[in-house]
Amino acid sequence: MRLRSLTEGRSAEDVSASSMSAVSTLGARQGDRLELSAWGPDAAKARDAVVALADRGWDETADAEPTAGLGREAGPTPASPGVAIGPAHLIESGRPALPDHEPGEPDAQWTQLTKAIDLARADIEQTRARVASTAGHGDAAIFEAHALFLEDPALLDDVKARIDTGEGAARAWDAVVTRTAEGLADLSDSYQRGRAADVRSIGDQVLRQLLGASASIATGKAQGVVIATDLTPAQAAQLDRHSVQAVVLAGGSPTSHAAILARAYGIPMVTGAGPQILEVREGTLVAVDGALAEVVIDPSGDVLASFRDRITARASELAAAAEAAAGAATTRDGVEIAVLANVGSVDDALAGATAHADGAGLVRTEFLFVGKAAAPSRDEQEQVYRAIAESFDGKRVVLRTLDVGGDKPLAFLPQAAEANPFLGERGIRLTLRHHALFLDQLVAICLVARDHPISVMFPMVATVAEVVAARRVVDEAITELGGRPESLRIGIMVEVPSTALKAAAFVPHVDFFSVGTNDLTQYALAAERGNQAVSELADGLDPGVLSLIATLCRDAAAVPVSVCGELAADPVAVPVLIGLGVRSLSVVPPAVALVKQRVREVNLGEARLLAEKALICESAAEVRALVTGR
Ligand code: PEP
Ligand code: MG
Repeated sequence: MRLRSLTEGRSAEDVSASSMSAVSTLGARQGDRLELSAWGPDAAKARDAVVALADRGWDETADAEPTAGLGREAGPTPASPGVAIGPAHLIESGRPALPDHEPGEPDAQWTQLTKAIDLARADIEQTRARVASTAGHGDAAIFEAHALFLEDPALLDDVKARIDTGEGAARAWDAVVTRTAEGLADLSDSYQRGRAADVRSIGDQVLRQLLGASASIATGKAQGVVIATDLTPAQAAQLDRHSVQAVVLAGGSPTSHAAILARAYGIPMVTGAGPQILEVREGTLVAVDGALAEVVIDPSGDVLASFRDRITARASELAAAAEAAAGAATTRDGVEIAVLANVGSVDDALAGATAHADGAGLVRTEFLFVGKAAAPSRDEQEQVYRAIAESFDGKRVVLRTLDVGGDKPLAFLPQAAEANPFLGERGIRLTLRHHALFLDQLVAICLVARDHPISVMFPMVATVAEVVAARRVVDEAITELGGRPESLRIGIMVEVPSTALKAAAFVPHVDFFSVGTNDLTQYALAAERGNQAVSELADGLDPGVLSLIATLCRDAAAVPVSVCGELAADPVAVPVLIGLGVRSLSVVPPAVALVKQRVREVNLGEARLLAEKALICESAAEVRALVTGR
């Protein structure tokens, strides 16, 4: 099947429709006319599928076109707030030099290249798993696209053809990648141009594997103000939030995954600073204001003083928040709300404890399992859970049992393909069917619960029978250990709408409920999370979602209700959730202090009235307007 643009001003060359990179070079935009040619026995079926896709608007919303690339044209652009002064640390693009001679027959060259591609793919998968556990599955999706590029048939065919004519693997690969990237860089659309950097970075990743250079240009040891042309998502994922003071990118964009990760890590970032930034000498002092997109190289005394003032002002604001965060978050009328941390690694636990979270409201234990060839042993699990519990020094830690399956497959636990993985064998459904895996995790959790206040939480619960069955496995673990840890509590996530509606039936079986608004929203609105085409629908402030939380809070009676989905960190949602009856909020560590401050502005009486009004609003937008008064 081939595609050709019929729109004036675009390249009229036809390209293979099965090649992501080739299709992108068409530069096709909304409203363009395309010609599709298909042949072979399935031609009609293929044609109909593409026509149906076009009729559905390519499964994109009208305004789905991202604003990425803005930084390239608009000059320095704020990408992540915060102020810093530090020594420049330049990170090179990581392009290894191409060898003059590449010995070996074409077959051997091709084998070496395919091995390098496999290694790069494994590297990408590892990064994807890491980002999924620290920053969420939406942010991890970019790596799936990167992996697809490595399977692009048109690109691989071109490389193979070049190798067959005697070109070395590195040169052949580089030539095709460069041509693809240049094709994208020439397009008129800034978002599409931005993808050229993605193509180059994946291309370089394969070259480094092929030529034996270090697999990834390490950013993990970077310190000070990191300066680079752009950062790949993998490089951004490696940044150490404690030693990197800021990031300044010559290119990049505030909607890139690097920027999303910088925000999640709380590292100030400016994108679109222009190529001249790369001429800064290593170690030169650089002042950065991420919110105002200001970057000053070798600042004068006055400028330095101004940045120092900002740092001081921000530090005192944060210090005030942190100081207050150490205390309870109490509403104006004296109701205490626990503000807890969401944790996806031991580092997150330390960050949460340092941010004075009142404990961990959600530990996503899957970070220990995803991307591994075998399940972690009981010992391994116990060690990590213990390290997390120790970080919180006596504060309660909620360990969620393994929440994988369907969309998050485990390498060591093959599952049948599912047409609708989000409605498939996920979370508790999966662990109940893998008894040994589940029991091992519960034994590890109970061992830690002997010494620390630990709660165990089951994900994706839809029925009381699941909770009863899961509790039986907890009992088995307890029997094996010879006694019930006194502090152990057992609760469930409320992510399935029917669970919220059946809250009263769950009450006798649980010590707490925790609302996973990320999943609850996707199921309530039938809008898949991470699917940009329906992202506008998936707003947790939708009155339908709020109504489910209201019902849960009402029917939970004395059983406490917490929220651990992203909605808990939304300043607009905080008073509404409290008004509905939620008494603890679990958020990413950098949001703890701010959420505590927001809680302190709330008056419970007023919040209840606000929540009542929110429930009868027509839309999430109306709820937002109601809360903000705008
Ligand atoms: C949720 O669904 O809101 C949640 C917290 O779980 P996760 O994001 O890990 O699915
Ligand atoms: Mg969930």
